[in-house]
Amino acid sequence: MFEERTAIQVSEAVKKVMEFSREGEKEYIDIENADGRYLAEAVIADHNIPPFDRSPLDGFAVRSEDTKNASGEHPVRLEVIETVGAGGVPSLEVKPGQAVRVMTGTIMPEDCDAIVMFELTKEIEEEGRQYIEIKRTFKEGDFVSFEGEETQKGDVLLEAGSRIHAGVIAVLATFGYKEVPVVKKPVIGIYATGTELLDVGEPLEPGKIRNSNAYMIQAQIRQAGGEPVYFGQLIDDFDLSFNAVSNALEKVDALITTGGVSVGDFDFLPEIYAKLGANVLFNKIAMRPGSVTTVAEADGKLLFGLSGNPSACFVGFELYTRPWIKKYLYSRTPYVETVKGSLTKDFPKPNPFTRFIRSKTDFADGKITASPVGMDKSQVVTSLAHTDALVAVPGGSRGYKAGDEVDILLLNREGSEVPLKDPLKTRKENE
Ligand code: AMP
Ligand code: MG
Repeated sequence: MFEERTAIQVSEAVKKVMEFSREGEKEYIDIENADGRYLAEAVIADHNIPPFDRSPLDGFAVRSEDTKNASGEHPVRLEVIETVGAGGVPSLEVKPGQAVRVMTGTIMPEDCDAIVMFELTKEIEEEGRQYIEIKRTFKEGDFVSFEGEETQKGDVLLEAGSRIHAGVIAVLATFGYKEVPVVKKPVIGIYATGTELLDVGEPLEPGKIRNSNAYMIQAQIRQAGGEPVYFGQLIDDFDLSFNAVSNALEKVDALITTGGVSVGDFDFLPEIYAKLGANVLFNKIAMRPGSVTTVAEADGKLLFGLSGNPSACFVGFELYTRPWIKKYLYSRTPYVETVKGSLTKDFPKPNPFTRFIRSKTDFADGKITASPVGMDKSQVVTSLAHTDALVAVPGGSRGYKAGDEVDILLLNREGSEVPLKDPLKTRKENE
């Protein structure tokens, strides 16, 4: 019997998924393997940066008072009593009329209060002694890099939930994090369903297609910060699929299936959810592609039933699974970032439902533009290779023209703290 399903709005579906969000545990990982992971704790400075007053350049540390009468006509002569490189510590007291030759990063000699760069001095050697002449005055603090001028002890440098990248690693190393507290990655299982599926290494056969979803989804999970576990393909057989899904659920934090979630004769996921006793959060969303996207919950674990159609599968992951993974990783910005921009081409299709058009973004005259890529059909796969954004257009619209303002969901950005909103109709259309 054909089952009537009630469609909910996209924003509502995201909200329902996020009601089941939870945060992962902490673990420690060597700093050399930490990139791409998420901080489980804030990073707070436990010392000042710089940690001591130092020279920011190669030159001479002087007592500024000694230069007070210096001028072009009457240069001041100072005796250079020692040379101290970065990492060294001065060993001599600096008396009036004396200076120390220092390099970038050398700690300030105690009695000195200004740095004079090489270029502003004339070096003189007389009877085995080194001198410099200075033709201008310097005041206390000139060219000194002061302790704490960059960062003070106690400053919060990074929040928990920050994604670790090269710049973050520099900060972690500066503060001695050989082992970095990170959030354990959520383990996300994957089953691709469909008797028609061939694995990637198999030659084509009549009636069959290669399974692209399983590999695409693994990459999407990794990009979101999760740990994919691919369990393989399932032919459309109820008992086999039920056993596979219920066993897999025990081994993962969440399970993604692709395909089999619609109302076809061999779409068994709805019955599998029923037999599992799972709570189906929704099984129809007012969106294209992927209106059949279903999410169910069993014992607190989510089952993401993504469409088999590659574009719909891709969009379903980005809209619903990605924020769940991000939240697990303590991210403060789990939602996809949406900006206003303009379309570069007409998109004449009328939309009964909110539509997410696979697009490629660009910048022109300080504005972001989005160009739809390829055919806009849920079964399309090749356009995904060029997609870096989704243009969201509201249901009930009559189509869009080049130059129209639209919502653009940026897929390669860290994210937003604002939950995804349903796109609004433009004023023109509401009139
Ligand atoms: P389904 O959601 O199972 O009805 O599948 C919808 C369409 O997506 C069908 O044309 C399938 O052949 C195709 N499809 C299903 N699974 C995959 C997959 N893993 N990779 C590529 N295409 C798929
Ligand atoms: Mg199928």
